[in-house]
Amino acid sequence: MSSGVLASLNTGFHVGDMWENVLKNRRILFDRFNYDYRSIVAATQVHGTDVRVFDQGNRGEGAFPGTTRSRCDALVTGEKGLPLAAYSADCQLIYFACPGKEPVVAVAHAGWKGTLGNIAGRVVRFLKDNYSIKPGRILVGLAPVVCRSCYLVNREVAERFYAAGWNSNTGLEPAGSSKYRLDLNTINTRQLLRAGIKKEHLTCNDWCTSCHPELFYSYRRDKGVTGRMIGFIAIKNSEPKA
Ligand SMILES: [Zn+2]
Repeated sequence: MSSGVLASLNTGFHVGDMWENVLKNRRILFDRFNYDYRSIVAATQVHGTDVRVFDQGNRGEGAFPGTTRSRCDALVTGEKGLPLAAYSADCQLIYFACPGKEPVVAVAHAGWKGTLGNIAGRVVRFLKDNYSIKPGRILVGLAPVVCRSCYLVNREVAERFYAAGWNSNTGLEPAGSSKYRLDLNTINTRQLLRAGIKKEHLTCNDWCTSCHPELFYSYRRDKGVTGRMIGFIAIKNSEPKA
């Protein structure tokens, strides 16, 4: 429903779009998956590394403008039918699913700050500590993210990654004149493997949000004036009918 630079499926309330458009867009998406767009849970993203648990009492937080009540970048739930949502335009969304008798799901939002702070590894640790879930049985999906060619960071940011042990072999490389290429996908993937996620349980892809204007909003490419994509994960209410 959105037009201009926000065309066409913008799901962010805070980017100058008309709220009616955003709500209609969300409805289009969530209807497709048989979830009520009014019942999703989202937090105000702060590029931090806090992980929080959400339950039915949080239902609808973030579904309408000004209704978020939590500030965090990683959401966890063990409750059925509660869609956990997060937003991005270049940052990486990371989905976690722990199938079983008592399933748990999570979503994390990782820009450079969250990635530097190992938000992916923190979610794995959180699931282990709070739900006794072994990393070896967690399934992880990494969403499209800005690629290393499109993501130049300054020396200050690069120094922080070097200090944390990242280098040219692991997702950070000099690109001339105090600029560096940062590969969020590679670094998040490595952190997940390091945290005990099995390689065969990781799903990712090569889509770059900046390289594909026909598909994705990109904060970098569009110089800050762009929409937001939403991603969500939920535990199904019941098994699909055979
Ligand atoms: Zn790219």
